[in-house]
Amino acid sequence: MKKIALLTSGGDAPGMNAAIRAITRKAIHEGFSVYGIERGFEGIINNEIRPLHARDVGGIITTGGTILRTARYPEFKNLDVQKRAYQILQDFGIDHLIVIGGDGSQAGAESLMRLGQSTITIPCTIDNDMNGTQYTIGFDTAINTVVDAVGRIRDTSNSHERVAIIEVMGRHAGHIALQSGLASGAELVLVPEYPMPLDEVCEHINKTHQLGKEYSIILVAEGAYESGEVKEYIKNHTYFDPSLTVLGYLQRGGAPSALDAILAARMSELAIDCLVQNIDNCITGYIDGQIRAIPYEKAKHMRFGIDKQQYELISILSH
Ligand code: ATP
Repeated sequence: MKKIALLTSGGDAPGMNAAIRAITRKAIHEGFSVYGIERGFEGIINNEIRPLHARDVGGIITTGGTILRTARYPEFKNLDVQKRAYQILQDFGIDHLIVIGGDGSQAGAESLMRLGQSTITIPCTIDNDMNGTQYTIGFDTAINTVVDAVGRIRDTSNSHERVAIIEVMGRHAGHIALQSGLASGAELVLVPEYPMPLDEVCEHINKTHQLGKEYSIILVAEGAYESGEVKEYIKNHTYFDPSLTVLGYLQRGGAPSALDAILAARMSELAIDCLVQNIDNCITGYIDGQIRAIPYEKAKHMRFGIDKQQYELISILSH
């Protein structure tokens, strides 16, 4: 019986558990035996590998986080550590390794591939910043969480006639800021892809105030600015003293949205179907409504940045 091992790595994201459940049950259905590795790549080195049965993954589809735990393990960039991990997987007789995580986790999977390990990566990060896919599991839940939070902060900003700065996650990408900004009616989004000088931000605030707006919501992607700096600048260059809310880990937790749970099920199904057909070393990418196996090499050249037209729409709709 062929053996599949799976691990979750990098930042946790809503839908990781839904993917663990779907991979385990679909793999068992196809005749594989399944193993779960605790704490990402670190768990391989620590021999934290245990069998996963269908009943072990019951009741987790709607839970946030990951039952396998996750870890940041920078030592895995070291070739000697990778070789040790490869040998441990060989000793356990693991035929295929499925990595659930973001682009760093995919780099970890690719390093094992170069040593001869068969791998598949399931894109799962709230940041939606991976090549080879237009969508990562966890993103939809995260933007819904942000939209909910912005709505609450808007009530207070409106009542107090204040400018509200809200810092959101996204690492080096502005997807979370842009999409949640569009959905929540933010006046401005500051994203790393289209740097906006802070003078322009102040000009925009003054202009919308002159148009009769009594409060403003500004979403700052963590990769665009240090949000405290934005707050200070606006305070020193306008008549407003903005509030600052850093949403932080709030965005990573919670039950996955239906969209994320469905995507987790479908990407997991594709991953196992690929392995049945001896297709591996690819990511399960979401491209134009379809889920496809994209080889790692090809994925590198498929970059989906944020949409400029949508970015400009936020500004148009804020007047
Ligand atoms: P998120 O988008 O949520 O941050 P991620 O998968 O990109 O998820 P990282 O911390 O970048 O998160 O990577 C997760 C883990 O993958 C690292 O802690 C490390 O163990 C491994 N990893 C990252 N980059 C590499 C690399 N270049 N080579 C080998 N392993 C890597």
